[in-house]
Amino acid sequence: MIPAALLLSFIGLVWFSLRYHWWRPAVDYHHPRILMYHMIAAPRPGARFNGLRVPPHRFERQLRWLSQRGWRSFTVSELLARGSTLPDKSFAITFDDGYADNLLRALPLLQKYGFKATLYLVVDRFERDWSMQRKQHHSGGELKREAKLSDEQVDELLASGCIELGSHSVTHANFQRMERESVCRELMQSRKMLEERFAVPVLSFAYPFGLYHPYQVELVKQAGYSSAVTTREGIDSTASWQPLELRRIKISGKDNWLAFALRMRVGRRGCL
Ligand SMILES: [Zn+2]
Repeated sequence: MIPAALLLSFIGLVWFSLRYHWWRPAVDYHHPRILMYHMIAAPRPGARFNGLRVPPHRFERQLRWLSQRGWRSFTVSELLARGSTLPDKSFAITFDDGYADNLLRALPLLQKYGFKATLYLVVDRFERDWSMQRKQHHSGGELKREAKLSDEQVDELLASGCIELGSHSVTHANFQRMERESVCRELMQSRKMLEERFAVPVLSFAYPFGLYHPYQVELVKQAGYSSAVTTREGIDSTASWQPLELRRIKISGKDNWLAFALRMRVGRRGCL
């Protein structure tokens, strides 16, 4: 008979392996990592979207880990411009939506470590409950109540010199439910409005919810963007990447340090 302790250890090992995929070989460190964040904030008790909230102390620990191991920070447009000439261990931090904590909590930490980031801003981000655009039952208004960056706060972020501004559409629309003309409008108007208000070039786009139809990739290009990020998990090679469908590494507020380190290694967490 197998001793209970041995059986438990075995079950533990299987669980750990499925959860963290520690056994996978590291993806070539010449391939840049694009990290996806939303909020840098403490979790809220009972909240649905705590995965989108990375606590500030955990964010700092991640930045320190990257800094100590020689990772080099770029904006998404810089990654694209440098391509295969990028040094090993290149990465880009991205923030989606435009939460106020990106200025109040994230920026001081980015500056402390000399890192950059790309902010994908929703133009019409106030009083809008876009989570319902994906699933009707996500109508609790949790993200709607979350403090968003004012235009003046975006000015402050841009004045820091370490933030690139990208578009995340006008209304955080679900492109899979929209006609071609409406998608074009979201793409073109958001770029125009952001460029006019903030007086910076807007060259990168983030698909709202990561949802789109394949034919819409061409529309992103036609609207004047040179890169676009998805929510598909993974690490692209600069030799074969699709600049308008870049994969990212999801950084979840629920991840511990080990999960973060493994995601940087293989691009994703395990299957649990
Ligand atoms: Zn979003």
